[in-house]
Amino acid sequence: MCGLFGVRSPERYVARLTYFGLFALQHRGQESAGIAVSDEGRLTALRDMGLVTQVFDEQKLRGLRGELAIGHTRYSTTGSSQWWNAQPLVQHGSARTIALGHNGNLTNAAELRAELGELGHRSATTADTEVIAAMIANDPAPLTDAVANAMHKLDGAFSVVGLSEGKLIAFRDPRGMRPLCLGRLDRDWVVASETCALDLVGAEFEREVRPGELMVIDERVEARQVMPQDKGGALCIFEFFYLARPDSRLQGVEVHAARVRNADLVLPIPDSGTPAAIGFSRALNIPFSEGLIKNRYVGRTFIQPDQGLREQGIRLKFNPLAEVAGKRVVVVDDSIVRGNTTGQIVQMLFDAGAAEVHLRISSPPVISQCYYGIDLADPDELIAAGKTVEEVREQIGATSLAYISLGGLQASTRRPESQFCRACLTRDYPTAIPREAAKLQFEPV
Ligand code: SF4
Repeated sequence: MCGLFGVRSPERYVARLTYFGLFALQHRGQESAGIAVSDEGRLTALRDMGLVTQVFDEQKLRGLRGELAIGHTRYSTTGSSQWWNAQPLVQHGSARTIALGHNGNLTNAAELRAELGELGHRSATTADTEVIAAMIANDPAPLTDAVANAMHKLDGAFSVVGLSEGKLIAFRDPRGMRPLCLGRLDRDWVVASETCALDLVGAEFEREVRPGELMVIDERVEARQVMPQDKGGALCIFEFFYLARPDSRLQGVEVHAARVRNADLVLPIPDSGTPAAIGFSRALNIPFSEGLIKNRYVGRTFIQPDQGLREQGIRLKFNPLAEVAGKRVVVVDDSIVRGNTTGQIVQMLFDAGAAEVHLRISSPPVISQCYYGIDLADPDELIAAGKTVEEVREQIGATSLAYISLGGLQASTRRPESQFCRACLTRDYPTAIPREAAKLQFEPV
């Protein structure tokens, strides 16, 4: 995951706009947040561990002046959840200095890192983002060509925003696996992972950055199709049913509408299961109930980095209402990944007196690993890998369990299958997959 935002505006307070853009994108990463600004070509960055509101205050924002800014909210997929991996990363090279924020995961990071090492580059982080920054910073070609050269070498998932030489840069991998869009703020330009960030800062959606496209923005937008778009593309289908905020639009489709359409029914696991539960409730004409109350100040458990935090998180996060007592409840969620959270919620509902707990999941079983920026982790941790639905049900302790079909999920996006990556559901990967792609592959031992 990770949230990206960028803005060019000589007259506006760009750091403040970026702060609000990141605030809208907080759901994409909660481990760290950062903003970099460019003031007549001079780069300053501030980044730290925590939520956007924890990292920044008025005083810190006031220290970030410039006409260009980028921001990042991080959820780690390559490199640990540590300060030195927080972004935007600032890289000084022999050709230029660049600040960079990356959403995605490179599948050839190890090879590229080794190549850079042979050229004398000493890594300061353990994140794959540094590879991209170092390639551009050390390439003597003009900026646009240097970025294009780097894009050709990268494989995997990458949506990137950057600042260098007084320009705002935005580019996307040829499959468009992670989202990135361009917006207009009067005469100024904004880029963001999702349209909800454009909405919050008052920018008009212009268009999506195309897969394989590079945008270099100063007074004007120079758009170059660096690499041909790979077939229909491979937007991560998780963006539709889990990652993106329901009020965002992806490929012109409102995410909330897609989630409601794919539901067949009444008690959601909030907030991720809510749109599907509404659809399910309407279709079967069974009353919808907010039977689980969520403490909204606790981060989403899926994107916290270790198991200890995840288990602690669930107890802080939900509380069932007394109305579930004696009822046969249908619980709707968007996915089951490891199953820990779901199992604890089922148990919590039985403890609160529910007579039966029927689970309905608005995505098919997640059976395989993601190499493109979603921390589904070890295949051994995926509850559905190598198990029948009945075995998963038994492990979770629900009365019954059913998943939406792959066809049903696909139909809800109203886009053809050829435009999506669905590899964690089908094991059909859109790129060659690395032999070794552990999250902590670049950590010192
Ligand atoms: Fe998304 Fe799954 Fe593909 Fe990863 S493997 S990009 S999570 S659809």
